[in-house]
Amino acid sequence: MSIAGQLNPPTRLLLGPGPSDVHPRVLTAMATPLLGHLDPQFLVLMNETQDMLRQAFRTSNQLTFPVSATGMAGMETCVVNLVEPGDKIVVCVKGFFGGRIVEVAERAGADITRLDCPWGQVFNLDAIRDTLKKVRPKVLAIVQAETSTGAWQPIQELGKLCHEHDALLLVDSVTALGCVPLEVDAWEIDAVYSCTQKGLSCPPGLSPVTFSPRAVEAIAKRKTKVQSWYLDVTMVQRYWGADRFYHHTAPITMIYALREGLRIVLEEGLEARWQRHLRNHRALKAGLEAMGLEYSAAAGHQLPQLNAVKIPAGVDDLKARGQLLTEFGIEVGGGLGDFKGKVWRIGLMGHNSRPNCVVQVLAALEHCLLKQGCKVQPGAGVAAANKVYAA
Ligand SMILES: *Cc1c(COP(=O)(O)O)cnc(C)c1O
Repeated sequence: MSIAGQLNPPTRLLLGPGPSDVHPRVLTAMATPLLGHLDPQFLVLMNETQDMLRQAFRTSNQLTFPVSATGMAGMETCVVNLVEPGDKIVVCVKGFFGGRIVEVAERAGADITRLDCPWGQVFNLDAIRDTLKKVRPKVLAIVQAETSTGAWQPIQELGKLCHEHDALLLVDSVTALGCVPLEVDAWEIDAVYSCTQKGLSCPPGLSPVTFSPRAVEAIAKRKTKVQSWYLDVTMVQRYWGADRFYHHTAPITMIYALREGLRIVLEEGLEARWQRHLRNHRALKAGLEAMGLEYSAAAGHQLPQLNAVKIPAGVDDLKARGQLLTEFGIEVGGGLGDFKGKVWRIGLMGHNSRPNCVVQVLAALEHCLLKQGCKVQPGAGVAAANKVYAA
């Protein structure tokens, strides 16, 4: 029998698809002593967290809270509360996470219509309108920021379109919140889920969700109970709402983290934050392209916070990423699903959307590409990024 050594993880720069690095202020908040989860002082912190979450989501939805689990639990919460067995759902699939929604909806017994578009592309409104007309679903689900491909789905018009066809709009904003515009009320979105470990620069562990009054009404009209006890929002709401009725023990430390993460987001201001993400993306993109790398998402629809690029021919995916990790302490993501072995995913999320992350990853990547025999002009990537910053 032996006792493991003291915890001493190596220093990393987390530039993959998440988790991203935790903001130092969040780490400090997490080292704060616990309160009881029904302590009047903790209830104040819960209210403040909910209030700031509404601001980050740009909503006045009463039913807004963080699910006590990661983004996938947010997905499941939205799906199982909105659909009853036999209900029709249209799921738009343009990558790995759209496929996940299909899997969750299958288990919820939904009657699924799957709408596909090629990986790296986004859906246009016409295809969705036709399907809504034909299928008349209760719910339409779509991913705003498809983390597997780096594609940025426009969703501004979708809520209105869904409502014209009496459908609810469900949006996956796991990689979007805190990075790119998301206007839950103005865009008429009925249910949204996100996470803490990507754009909010907190650890993984919570999934913020919000439901519109329309969605709440649909949930109230259910004929069957939500099959998941833990994720039934009508019960969780009694804890997060005025009743403060015990449902489960809130992960206190994670609520501290989210509260601090949201304070940081709102202090910066959402618009300024979105602009910062765009600026650093432009610099990274200029640098990657100067090194001969090509984006895998369609032009005009590339996410600033998730840069998916094709791995150049002849380059060993695992070797290159391994070298980035061990020699430079930089983590970038490999491909998922159809893109496995074909793309690298470089995240510039939240706190990590900074010039020094951009310059570091470009310089380190150049080193690894040269090592693999790629013809990269030394210094070209960093120079191209600097040019964007100088402009
Ligand atoms: C990361 C991610 C999820 C899953 O979130 P977890 O926190 O890993 O459970 C769902 N959807 C998208 C688009 C994601 O990027």
